[in-house]
Amino acid sequence: MENNNPWTRAITQIKKAADLISLDPLLWARLMEPERTISVSLPFRRENGEITVAQGYRIQHNSILGPYKGGIRYHQEVSIDEIKAFAILMTMKNAVVDIPLGGGKGGIAIDPKELSEHELEQLTRLFTRRLGTAIGPEIDIPAPDVNTNPKIMNWIVDEYSAMVGKHTLGVVTGKPVDQGGSLGRNEATGLGGSYVLLRMLEKLKKDPKDLTVAVQGFGNVGRFVAGFLQNAGCKIVALSDSKGGIYVPDGIESVEQVEKCKEEKGYLAGCYCVGSVCDIKYKDELKGRDITSEELLTLPVDIIIPAALENVINRENADNIQAGIILEMANSPMTLEANELLSKRDITIIPDILANAGGVTVSYFEWYQNMHNLHWTKEEVFAKLKTKMEHATDQVIATRNEHKTTLREAAYIVALQRLQKHSK
Ligand code: NAD
Repeated sequence: MENNNPWTRAITQIKKAADLISLDPLLWARLMEPERTISVSLPFRRENGEITVAQGYRIQHNSILGPYKGGIRYHQEVSIDEIKAFAILMTMKNAVVDIPLGGGKGGIAIDPKELSEHELEQLTRLFTRRLGTAIGPEIDIPAPDVNTNPKIMNWIVDEYSAMVGKHTLGVVTGKPVDQGGSLGRNEATGLGGSYVLLRMLEKLKKDPKDLTVAVQGFGNVGRFVAGFLQNAGCKIVALSDSKGGIYVPDGIESVEQVEKCKEEKGYLAGCYCVGSVCDIKYKDELKGRDITSEELLTLPVDIIIPAALENVINRENADNIQAGIILEMANSPMTLEANELLSKRDITIIPDILANAGGVTVSYFEWYQNMHNLHWTKEEVFAKLKTKMEHATDQVIATRNEHKTTLREAAYIVALQRLQKHSK
């Protein structure tokens, strides 16, 4: 069995980078455990009268660079190890893109799909009260993650504001735009990933127009990264979601049309589009083929982009991967073993902490606008995001060249050096 413990994986990979730069042992000790672990019991009454007791967590991993920042997920499999791992990765991610925020993560171990909206609101408000003033705009700023959304963030703002007696927009990010959210947050992760990839291609002297791309996952991240890369000239040949996918070797005409088709049907399988009409009947005309999401990763393409789930690239399929570039848009899409196997081949792996950092970067912009009562246009947000992502990419590439290492280790080195500089 492959060891997929997320905390072990994070520490193993970060330790390699720490050793390469002989990191100060005191800083290592400060990173090895979170600064603060909050575990709260959340008993609440269901609409049918039953009592449910959920467990909630907030891990405040490290605050060297600023207030803790990271999402809150609601999922039945939330565990302390998983939240700890994501919290340290947030510390690294925020450091690599150079935003003045530390790392945190939180969650409630519950299946939100089993709760009514009223129950979800009661639970969120109770969690907010239990966290109390351990969160706050200058202390710890949660955001949406798996199964949490702008509406849930609004309940947190409301409950927190009532608790402290002051309307406090900056306590969370990822709010609805008309309630203090930032323009451009929806696109941010996908757009940020496309800025990183295009910068990397420039350095590799590759023209996007010559490259074929397959994207696994067509949610908030996948659909935007696919759309932006198509606009940049890449040939998008395969897309998939949880129900299956499509492969059009000559290139999918319009990602936007596929998106409309998926919106109508609820899934993208069969979304073969010609002009504005999408139908399975065009499959043969387009020389298309139905594929599974697993198959997508091993297609003969130049770039694969996992943008859905963890551990999808593992020792079972690593040897079958044909792409020369992997852009990790999902968090931790690759197991430790697969990372070792693929790093030995001449494959460019653009690590998650760089590739998907556009989301938290625009979250930082949201917080900054709230704190200064500013309202940036979408164009301003995108321009600032581009600068941040390209600068971080350049630094990671320069560090990789200096230390003759992988991009993943280089990204961790950039993050650790920044933490080292500020921890004095
Ligand atoms: P989402 O829920 O909007 O979309 C997930 C997509 O993955 C959906 O299209 C779903 O159908 C698809 N999917 C689920 N199971 C699948 C499977 N077995 N095969 C193929 N597709 C499958 O989520 P998202 O916000 O797009 O997040 C995707 C990934 O990106 C996650 O790993 C998330 O942690 C990471 N991420 C997201 C953000 C963000 O800002 N949203 C930021 C950083 C990292």
